[in-house]
Amino acid sequence: MSKLETKCLHAGYESAESTTRSHAVPLYRTASYRFDSTEHAANLFSLKELGNIYTRLMNPTTDVLEQRVAAMEGGAAALAVASGTSAIFYSIINLAKSGDEIVSANNLYGGSYTMFNDILPGMGITVKFVDPSDPQNFAAAINENTKAVFCETIGNPALELVDLQGIADIAHANGLPLIVDSTFTTPALLRPLDHGADIVVHSLTKWLGGHGTGIGGVVVDSGKFDWTTGKHPLLSDPEPSYWNVSFANDLGDLAPLAYILRMRLIPLRNLGACIAPDNSWMALQGIETLPLRMERHSENGLATAEHLKKSGKVEWVKYAGYDDKASKYLPNGAGGMVVFEIKGGEEAGRKFIESLELFSHLANVGDARSLAIHPASTTHSQLNEEQQTSGGITPGMIRLSVGIENIDDILADIDQALAKS
Ligand SMILES: *Cc1c(COP(=O)(O)O)cnc(C)c1O
Repeated sequence: MSKLETKCLHAGYESAESTTRSHAVPLYRTASYRFDSTEHAANLFSLKELGNIYTRLMNPTTDVLEQRVAAMEGGAAALAVASGTSAIFYSIINLAKSGDEIVSANNLYGGSYTMFNDILPGMGITVKFVDPSDPQNFAAAINENTKAVFCETIGNPALELVDLQGIADIAHANGLPLIVDSTFTTPALLRPLDHGADIVVHSLTKWLGGHGTGIGGVVVDSGKFDWTTGKHPLLSDPEPSYWNVSFANDLGDLAPLAYILRMRLIPLRNLGACIAPDNSWMALQGIETLPLRMERHSENGLATAEHLKKSGKVEWVKYAGYDDKASKYLPNGAGGMVVFEIKGGEEAGRKFIESLELFSHLANVGDARSLAIHPASTTHSQLNEEQQTSGGITPGMIRLSVGIENIDDILADIDQALAKS
C-alpha cells in the first residue's frame, strides 16, 4: 500500500475487526476497557504492554484515525486530539516549558496567533514572530532558549506559500525541530515531512474531515528528530509524572515514538483534550474521499481565482497556485482557498458577503460547500491594525473557501454578488 488514495481508504484498518467482521471502521463509544487481570492492568499502566485503558488516552476508532493519518503523512506515529487548536498547543508544550522560546511565522491562523502571542507568554513560553517569506528571518530570531520553529504551509489568510525546505534547514542547523501546520494543504497536496519538517499538525475540522460535521486535530511525528542531545529536556530528562521514564532515551525499539508517546502520556493524559470517538469516526469518513475532494477543490479554486482576476471588480487576487514555489510544493494543485480585495473597500466587501446565495457566510474553511468571510471584522478582529497589516489582512479583503459544487454555480453566485456590491 504505497499510494495516498489507497492509504486514505485502508491504512490502520487493513483487515476487518476480528469479532464482528465489520467492514467499515467501527465506532467505539466507550469510556474505558476491561482488564484481563491485575497483572494485565499493571502492565498497561507501566507501559510493559500497549493496550486500551481509558478513552481520554486511547480509543480503537481514534487509533485507526491516528494510524491512517500517520501513513498518509509518511510519519512514524500520530496523536489525535479534540481540535486543531489543542493539537498546536500540545505540539508546543510537549517540548517547551517556562523559560523556553519558539520562533514562529507571523502569518498564522487567528487562534494560533492569539495562543502564541497572549496565552503561551503567560505560561512563560516566549514566541518570537518573524516574516516567513525569507527563511533567514527564522535564523536571526533563534537563540539558546529556542526549542522549535513553527509555520503554516500556506499562511492564513493571505495565502503565502513558505519555503519549507529552507526553514527546515535553518531549524536543523540549530538542532531544532520544525513544526508545520498543514491544515490548508492536507497530505493530498503537500507532505511537509518530505520537505524536511519534523512534526505536522492539522485541524481535522477542515479539509481532512471535509464536511463541516465535527471538530478534531492531529499531530504527526516523523520519528526522525534526535531528542537525545540535551536540547529538549522535557523529552530526554526522567519524567517525574511517569515512572521517571526518559522518553528520548529509554524506549529502545519504540524510540521513533518518543514525541507522540510523551504527548499521549503527559499532555493528553493530564490536560485531557481528547477527541470524541464520534469525531474520529467522522474524520475517517471524510478522509476516505480526501484526494478526490482536493482535486475538485483545487480545480474550482483556480477557476474562481482566474474568474475574479478577469472580472474588473477586484483590486487583487491571491491564490497559493500563483506563488513561484507552487511548482515545487504544490504539484497536485493548490486547494480551494482564494483571497481577494474587492474594489470599494470595506463597504463593498460587506455588501458582497451579504449578497452571496450559494456561498455560506461563516467562520470555517475546508467544507465541501463553498464558504465566505470578511477576516478583518471576524476571524482576525482581535488583532490590532498593525498586527492585521503584518499578517496581510486588509480592510476590503474577502476570503473564499471554494467548495466542490459545480463551478458554473459557484461563478454565477460570485458574479451576482459582485454586481450588487
Ligand atoms: C481551523 C484551523 C486551526 C484550528 O483548528 P480547530 O480544529 O478549529 O481548533 C488551526 N490552524 C489552521 C490553519 C486552521 O485553519
